[in-house]
Amino acid sequence: MKTLHVQASSASYPVYIGEGLLNSAGNLLKELGLKPSKILIVTDKIVERLYSKELLPQLQKEYDVFTYIVDSNETAKSFENYHGILTYCLQHNFDRSSCMMALGGGVVGDLAGFAASTYMRGISFIQLPTTLLAHDSAVGGKVAINHPLGKNMIGSFYHPKAVIYDVLTLETLPPKERRSGFAEVIKHALIKDGEMLKWLHQNVSGPADIGPPLLEDMIFKGIHIKAGIVEKDEKETGIRAYLNFGHTLGHAIESEAGYGKVPHGDAVASGMLFATWLSNEILQSGLDYGKMYQWFKKLGFPVALEEHYHTDLLISRMTIDKKASGGNIRMVLLQDIGQPVLHDLTVDESRSFLQRWRKE
Ligand code: NAD
Ligand code: MG
Repeated sequence: MKTLHVQASSASYPVYIGEGLLNSAGNLLKELGLKPSKILIVTDKIVERLYSKELLPQLQKEYDVFTYIVDSNETAKSFENYHGILTYCLQHNFDRSSCMMALGGGVVGDLAGFAASTYMRGISFIQLPTTLLAHDSAVGGKVAINHPLGKNMIGSFYHPKAVIYDVLTLETLPPKERRSGFAEVIKHALIKDGEMLKWLHQNVSGPADIGPPLLEDMIFKGIHIKAGIVEKDEKETGIRAYLNFGHTLGHAIESEAGYGKVPHGDAVASGMLFATWLSNEILQSGLDYGKMYQWFKKLGFPVALEEHYHTDLLISRMTIDKKASGGNIRMVLLQDIGQPVLHDLTVDESRSFLQRWRKE
């Protein structure tokens, strides 16, 4: 098992990464000094079927354990489930010393975290990630549900007491989900670590390589980078925005497609290609766009935007992004690998760049 510590200004907590950790979650709780009166495990249908038998028996020996199961997709981050979880906790007499655990990917992590952050003004919360993408979502303290008018629009900053990452769970993760999570691994390398990017490029040449034995290292390196940024800027007043690399266009693609239709990482991969191309155009960064394009293609990422995404509609989505400022579109660009910068574009500039990139 490897352990990382996240040392943010409002909280510090361990991230345990290793094989078979679900089986020892009870012991880890003790190590953390947590003695919850009750535990609610929030999970989704697929993950519950696969992994509740790993987690539950040892917890049940010592604690009063309940399970709340949601649908296995983005629609689960809803007001209905948020309300449902809180109601369930009230009905079952959860108190301030109770604990919420998110067993699953970013969807249940965001949903359970938000519920935990508001139940009785906050109860303890543990992340048990089971997707590769969750190396990103489980660390950093952002939790949220979706509003019909926008993704992640209702949320808070709330750190878990610990992240317990059992990498064996990733063995059952479908290839599409691995690829999606891998996009965020690449993003972490692009914004911070040229050596990591080289390592990824050399070792992951196709979808089949996004698996053991590399996964554990990818997760460790990715979390290390994310934690380092969050520690310096917990509430996103500055450099945390760099984590948005590839996301301005990525979010626009996701919302145009309809949430859950395009895997997050696929949308972000398209966004990273655009942002890399843009960095060369605007900052003359001299990044090897062609190499990145070919690599992404081999990995199975969509390298060209499908025709049905209308440029104007994507642009208007980009202007309502949470990170937009004063009517301009705020892009994260790369001066070089590991050197992100923020760059504002007017709506007209953005449209003309996006049109040109799509014709390349
Ligand atoms: P997800 O939680 O929906 O999981 C993807 C799919 O994989 C689901 O169908 C799930 O049932 C299934 N699954 C999960 N673990 C599995 C396993 N081990 N084996 C087999 N199937 C498994 O999605 P995700 O990609 O993990 O997360 C996406 C969400 O994370 C989005 O809602 C996004 O907004 C959020 N997110 C949050 C942050 C943050 O900082 N809070 C950062 C990035 C993403
Ligand atoms: Mg993301």
